[in-house]
Amino acid sequence: MDRVINFSAGPSTIPLGVLKQAQEELLNYAGRGFSIMEISHRTKIFEEVLHSAMDRVRDLYGFSDDFTILFLQGGASLQFAQVPMNLYAGGVAEYANTGNWTSKAIKEAGVLGINYRVIASSEDSKFDRIPEVKFSDDADYGYICSNNTIYGTQYPQLPQCGCPLVVDSSSDLFSRPVDLSSVGMFYGGIQKNGGPAGVTMVAIRKDLLDRANPKTPMILRYKTQADADSMSNTPNTFGIYMLNLMLGWIKDEIGGLAAMHERNKRKAALLYGAIDASGGFYRGHAQKESRSLMNVSFNIADAALEPVFVAQAEAEGMIGLKGHRVLGGIRASIYNAINYEDVEKLIAFMSEFARKNG
Ligand SMILES: *Cc1c(COP(=O)(O)O)cnc(C)c1O
Repeated sequence: MDRVINFSAGPSTIPLGVLKQAQEELLNYAGRGFSIMEISHRTKIFEEVLHSAMDRVRDLYGFSDDFTILFLQGGASLQFAQVPMNLYAGGVAEYANTGNWTSKAIKEAGVLGINYRVIASSEDSKFDRIPEVKFSDDADYGYICSNNTIYGTQYPQLPQCGCPLVVDSSSDLFSRPVDLSSVGMFYGGIQKNGGPAGVTMVAIRKDLLDRANPKTPMILRYKTQADADSMSNTPNTFGIYMLNLMLGWIKDEIGGLAAMHERNKRKAALLYGAIDASGGFYRGHAQKESRSLMNVSFNIADAALEPVFVAQAEAEGMIGLKGHRVLGGIRASIYNAINYEDVEKLIAFMSEFARKNG
């Protein structure tokens, strides 16, 4: 079977074992004679899937009973608006601007007319680093994006703060353990690291559920979905089923988030090592202390070679390597489902490409 190595930034590759299980169960789920996507979300059999996925999220991250787990729709992008609608409490919201996705979140705060300030930014150096982030203790919330998918930067650790920390973890979801001590709300679209597009995982501290601005539509209040077990309306049942399989793979095949983190660190070290050893042929975008373990964005010194690189890699069965249009260059997304051997193949190609064109 000809599966390519898929370095796409999202949606992105899913482990073969997970795809095969979904394939096996597609026509006949658990001997019931139907697919899980053909059955009411109000059935016991679907609720088992839903609760298994919620329990696995809770278990992997160690979210205590102080948190509610939600599976929402509208993408991570809807959270840019839902966060201020639900968590702004009439004081000030603080944002750290580390790229495209935080810029969009800040824009939504502006559209909603809340009082906010940008307390740190790395825009002046093309978002090539994580700036120092210090939120005010009395802010309504402090907002960060833990991994910047386009620029390839990542917070080595989440910042500590006295206010509730809101984290967009879309592109490093389920990739490492996180210190939850400051976290008020932690979310991500699952399509990078946790399955197909269409489900947003939200973990939110229960004491924050009552803050929503009264003008917030019922369906956009976290409390509505928390009270309804994420089924105030029909959830993305098949997406949640796929997420549950992915979480099972992370726990049972990999061994949990600490083991996943080790695996991701090894992969990233291999790839950054190849970039650094290329004698300037390849140039990483992110400053070293801020390098992402998930998205490795780099350029070729002779930019005219970049489309050639992408085309030749594709001919060798490695797709998704073209950089995002705002940054250009090359981007290799090495999410959870990419394994060490996949990265070894990429760096073998890179060194051969550099030898031929250097
Ligand atoms: C992909 C991405 C988003 C946007 O996700 P959608 O589900 O397309 O709305 C937001 N934040 C980050 C960090 C992302 O990587």
